Amino acid sequence: MPTSGTTIELIDDQFPKDDSAAGGVVDEVDLTEANILATGLNKKAPRIVNGFGSLMGSKEMVSVEFDKKGNEKKSNLDRLLEKDNQEKEAAKTRTHISEQPWTLNNWHQHLNWLNMVLVCGMPIVGWYFALSGKVPLHLNVFLFSVFYYAVGGVSITAGYHRLWSHRSYSAHWPLRLFYAVFGCASVEGSAKWWGHSHRIHHRYTDTLRDPYDARRGLWYSHMGWMLLKPNPKYKARADITDMTDDWTIRFQHRHYILLMLLTAFVIPTVICGYFFNDYMGGLIYAGFIRVFVIQQATFCINSMAHYIGTQPFDDRRTPRDNWITAIVTFGEGYHNFHHEFPTDYRNAIKWYQYDPTKVIIYLTSLVGLAYDLKRFSQNAIEEALIQQEQKKINQKKAKINWGPVLTDLPMWDKQTFLAKSKENKGLVIISGIVHDVSGYISEHPGGETLIKTALGKDATKAFSGGVYRHSNAAQNVLADMRVAVIKESKNSAIRMASKRGEVYETGKFF
Ligand SMILES: [Zn+2]
Ligand SMILES: [Zn+2]
Repeated sequence: MPTSGTTIELIDDQFPKDDSAAGGVVDEVDLTEANILATGLNKKAPRIVNGFGSLMGSKEMVSVEFDKKGNEKKSNLDRLLEKDNQEKEAAKTRTHISEQPWTLNNWHQHLNWLNMVLVCGMPIVGWYFALSGKVPLHLNVFLFSVFYYAVGGVSITAGYHRLWSHRSYSAHWPLRLFYAVFGCASVEGSAKWWGHSHRIHHRYTDTLRDPYDARRGLWYSHMGWMLLKPNPKYKARADITDMTDDWTIRFQHRHYILLMLLTAFVIPTVICGYFFNDYMGGLIYAGFIRVFVIQQATFCINSMAHYIGTQPFDDRRTPRDNWITAIVTFGEGYHNFHHEFPTDYRNAIKWYQYDPTKVIIYLTSLVGLAYDLKRFSQNAIEEALIQQEQKKINQKKAKINWGPVLTDLPMWDKQTFLAKSKENKGLVIISGIVHDVSGYISEHPGGETLIKTALGKDATKAFSGGVYRHSNAAQNVLADMRVAVIKESKNSAIRMASKRGEVYETGKFF
């Protein structure tokens, strides 16, 4: 049967001779052990007190802290197992709110009210003052808001995302401190929390454990995941000890509330008040409205970048490349590339694609603040592109009628062919395949005489250049006339078929 796989030739004897020692046993990776490493549970996770890092997220979903009281002697793994067992027991007796239908009595229990205030309440206040005309927008405040939007935004994309979550480059402490402080201006939680849920997103993309699971719909992956209480059943963990080893991350997490209030609201208010004499404009536009816009833009990465756009590198999962999302997110919109090559400091690889975050990382490296910028080799990128192109081509191939499938045809030896040729004068062998050209003789573009000389014979050489080198189209017309395969020449039949683009799996053939 033709399949969408690649033709596999019989290649056993193409390998070098096996020279390995006999009887060697190779251990397989222990999955439990490897998963413990992936979640960082083998290490002592520092407890960084604040808790407000769960801001905009669901602590149940991403919590990596452990209760110290009474548990000091237990290993992280023991604590985890104990906690998981307790949760399982508790789940038996009650149904989590996320599994219950919405009713007039319980709707408020479905919601994460802190996040409702931070991503819905604050914008309502901002837009009320802006749209009612109570606080008019002045040009200076507008320009400062745009500039400050970029400062907070790039701290998320170049800092939270590409530096900390993916370690796609390294940075010296002044730059890390800058991103840690001004990342707070975007009100997206602490880098520790953000990086942890982001690593889970990359590890479990499009599964129930993916915090922003795109399969649950545009609304859920945009804001729903944050506004609704998540099901603790699908809680996931990822190792972030490299992040918590960074003092700037610990400093930011400890003082998150203070830093957030200061950078998101106090600083823009004071700057607009001092320089433009417009304190209220600073608070409303450079504060509330700016935070709303940057939050929505960032949420688009989880929603739009998993919905609209192209998938040039791999289409097995939802991430997509899209220039519209790139524009609002400082270049984070080339999300199909990003999910394939997450530790590449670039998101866009073509010169005309918009990725200012990449440019900023490069510029900071020129002045010595950033270093060790990571890139995947162009060859690895081309490989992925071609594999995806090949997949598309194979899908198209599967829809095409390639003529009778070789494996469905009867197998004749040469004697049978000669016998059958006496009954049917229109039979001819080309590349080990018997064709019945009776109905085609008068239509043959090379004339009746030529085709008639081939009847009852093997015309492989004449067909493929000895007399006339037939085109692809001619070969395709011929393929429709297949009636049998010659046993002694089945290998040339396979070669002929795979040359045309037909795909057969070795092993299933004959
Ligand atoms: Zn994603
Ligand atoms: Zn990422």
